[in-house]
Amino acid sequence: MMQAQQFASDNYAGICPEAWQAMQAANGGSAIAYGDDEWTEKASDGFRQLFQTDAEVFFVFNGTAANSLALAALCQSYHSVICSSFAHVETDECGAPEFFSNGSKLLVAPTTDGKLTPEVIRQLALSRTDIHFPKPRVVTITQPTETGLVYTVEEIKAISAVCKELNLRLHMDGSRFAHACEFLGCEPADISWKAGVDVLCFGGTKNGMAVGEAVLFFNKELAEDFDYRCKQAGQLASKMRFLAAPWVGMLETGAWLKNAQRANQSARYLAENIKNCPGIQLMFPVQANGVFVSASEQVLEKLRTKGWRFYTFIGGGARFMFAWDAQQERIDQLIADIKSASQEV
Ligand SMILES: *Cc1c(COP(=O)(O)O)cnc(C)c1O
Repeated sequence: MMQAQQFASDNYAGICPEAWQAMQAANGGSAIAYGDDEWTEKASDGFRQLFQTDAEVFFVFNGTAANSLALAALCQSYHSVICSSFAHVETDECGAPEFFSNGSKLLVAPTTDGKLTPEVIRQLALSRTDIHFPKPRVVTITQPTETGLVYTVEEIKAISAVCKELNLRLHMDGSRFAHACEFLGCEPADISWKAGVDVLCFGGTKNGMAVGEAVLFFNKELAEDFDYRCKQAGQLASKMRFLAAPWVGMLETGAWLKNAQRANQSARYLAENIKNCPGIQLMFPVQANGVFVSASEQVLEKLRTKGWRFYTFIGGGARFMFAWDAQQERIDQLIADIKSASQEV
């Protein structure tokens, strides 16, 4: 039996119709394996069209692989990668970035909200310049951040300017990239290659697909031998058409943006309706599809008792994440339960 909808994570959602239908279409007959099929070509071209540039495109199974392999492609083992203390690569990838890069160290910048700034990057990159310290080579930013904040075009440009100055490459973890585009109302190119991003990991899973992320190299030289890297890491799908086809459906129909819109709107709606509850505080401005709610442990426990699932790993507050399938009645129920829980204590 299907459980009542929960908002603990945006990967609780199922597969959106557009991705599902494309999978079904790709299932009609046989196709060449290992990515030499029409679907893979179509999906890659779809990305080049969407980003208005001739990027190298690869499809992998998940975000951990996309980030780790992309970072490994930008680094030698004696290099280091600057990231925020909230970064998924630091907190949720089990050391995969270091593993796949044969030891490139993550240099973690303490941040209060998950956003890196040019100042923090410069400070960390110049903190040591001697041979005993791993040489800074890459900056990775998450767009939107793990805290649901979106970097503006200007903020990304300012970061990439520092990167150019200090000879650092810029990687973007875009597991929710679509959500950032939706919030800013910008073209994907504006917050990626046009703003100086070298490599983007574009998330499909949290945007309504079953599985799969795309890795886009805007600086094509950096993509050299990336196919071998994927294969060695167990990330080359033999039936690649099933990783690629959903992207064709998502890009052709515009579902990639529509799904993000539904998710973002749901988060804004929740935030708007609970922000004035006594004892409730929004931990971060709501810009993407996540709402972080600070409340007393009593209130959180009441919500759990009412059957709500949520994670508290970011700053101890309750995180609610919305996906393409967010049901209005369930959001309203959550609002009512938060209101009553905050009034009862
Ligand atoms: C979910 C997520 C990923 C991808 O995680 P996988 O579970 O490996 O697919 C990457 N970065 C961020 C910020 C995420 O939230």
